[in-house]
Amino acid sequence: MMPPRTASSTSLAIVRRLRFCAGHRLLGHEGKCACLHGHNYRVDVEVAAAGGGADVDAVGRIVDFAIVKRRLLGWLDAHWDHGFVLFADDAAAIAAVRLATPTKYFLLPWNPSAENMARYLLEVVCPAVFADLGVVARQVTVWETDDACAVAALAGPPAPPPVPLGAAVVIDPR
Ligand SMILES: [Zn+2]
Repeated sequence: MMPPRTASSTSLAIVRRLRFCAGHRLLGHEGKCACLHGHNYRVDVEVAAAGGGADVDAVGRIVDFAIVKRRLLGWLDAHWDHGFVLFADDAAAIAAVRLATPTKYFLLPWNPSAENMARYLLEVVCPAVFADLGVVARQVTVWETDDACAVAALAGPPAPPPVPLGAAVVIDPR
């Protein structure tokens, strides 16, 4: 039997790790990151109940790990995996990836650094894919390598997304 629930100052969250592969480049980078290249990205998404605190369902969950995976990995697979994530102002890179069909790319409103990708996932993608679950993504970590990651975290209550949710462009003439 579960002990009776009492008032608690504990805050619960879960973290799900997700993986995808994508290409990008950083427009204006002083070094090799200005070249088109790719990463085996990892994303750690931290999810809490929308009301915060230690609320869990009758089974003891904030939300099932499998639902977090299905929603967010589903989005990543459809939009970023095996595609290029490119800055919408990077006309040369967009033209280059459009030449090699079949091709898939996603236009980010900002340069696709790990920082900006984490921010986009936190502020734009997670609110859309978790909308009906009564949960909020509090933090998104994007790992470019085993040694380097960027962390985007909510500093207060969730705000409206700063940009609309984008769509992948897939060109497959086969
Ligand atoms: Zn890179």
